[in-house]
Amino acid sequence: MKRLLVLVAAALLILPAGQAFAAAYKDTSTPAILHKAYKDAQKGKGDFKVLIVAGHDDQFSGTSFAGLREADLNLELAEKIKDLLGDNKNLEVRMARTEEGYDPDLLEYFTDRREQTEDFIARYKDRMERHLESGNLESASGVPHGTAASEAALRLYGINKWSNDEEFDLVLHVHFNDTARYDLNYPAPYTGFTIYTPENQFGNARGSWAVGEALRDRLMDVTYPSTLPGESAGLVEDQELIAIGAYNTLEAASVLVEYSYIYERRIQDPLLRESTLNAMAEATQLGLEDFFKDK
Ligand SMILES: [Zn+2]
Repeated sequence: MKRLLVLVAAALLILPAGQAFAAAYKDTSTPAILHKAYKDAQKGKGDFKVLIVAGHDDQFSGTSFAGLREADLNLELAEKIKDLLGDNKNLEVRMARTEEGYDPDLLEYFTDRREQTEDFIARYKDRMERHLESGNLESASGVPHGTAASEAALRLYGINKWSNDEEFDLVLHVHFNDTARYDLNYPAPYTGFTIYTPENQFGNARGSWAVGEALRDRLMDVTYPSTLPGESAGLVEDQELIAIGAYNTLEAASVLVEYSYIYERRIQDPLLRESTLNAMAEATQLGLEDFFKDK
């Protein structure tokens, strides 16, 4: 039964982006908006602002396998992506966190400006509830995810608020996947990548989907879509992941990339990990460059 539900959910998820119901939300990110921002940057009128978020942190470190913490792995790959994107002078690239911890400006959203962040969350949740009640918006549940602990959730919403305030154009969340199973000491049979993008009724959906497609095409050169049912398209819409804008809380284009499952040999074997991460970082850079070049 559960399997059937997953399959039904998967079928719903392959609906084309941007063709949903009565629009509850205004577009905040579309391919046209992103291309204009990039063109402006090329002309020296501001920067195209990219925020790279190495998923999780020291306190909430995500999943782990055989002593390898996801938060550390995410950061290792995020740093590689940042270095490669740094070659493009039209981009202003910022990291939400580094080895030193969170960016001090962002940290304020979890500390001194915490109350504002909580108001922000409440306001957007309330707005979405009203849209659901009025029928302007349809609820969509997809692949089940682990729910973020409330403090971790607040940080994710804080990142969204910071991104809106700072007017980032693109937010890239770097993660490695895992799946529930009986014994976490043993790998599950699923492998491969998945790119999560905002569900198509959200204001940042269209821009995010286009970026996601470009990333998927390049990731296909170095790896393959997840073998987990529901993730096999490589690109999956999601209404509930905070990182990509649950409750329409994020204006920027955003994708959350699960680059592979954490227990895969190419990640676990230290001899393979370096080249695997390099290939993943390069595919990410090339995917974004493809997107920027696209007319
Ligand atoms: Zn993660």
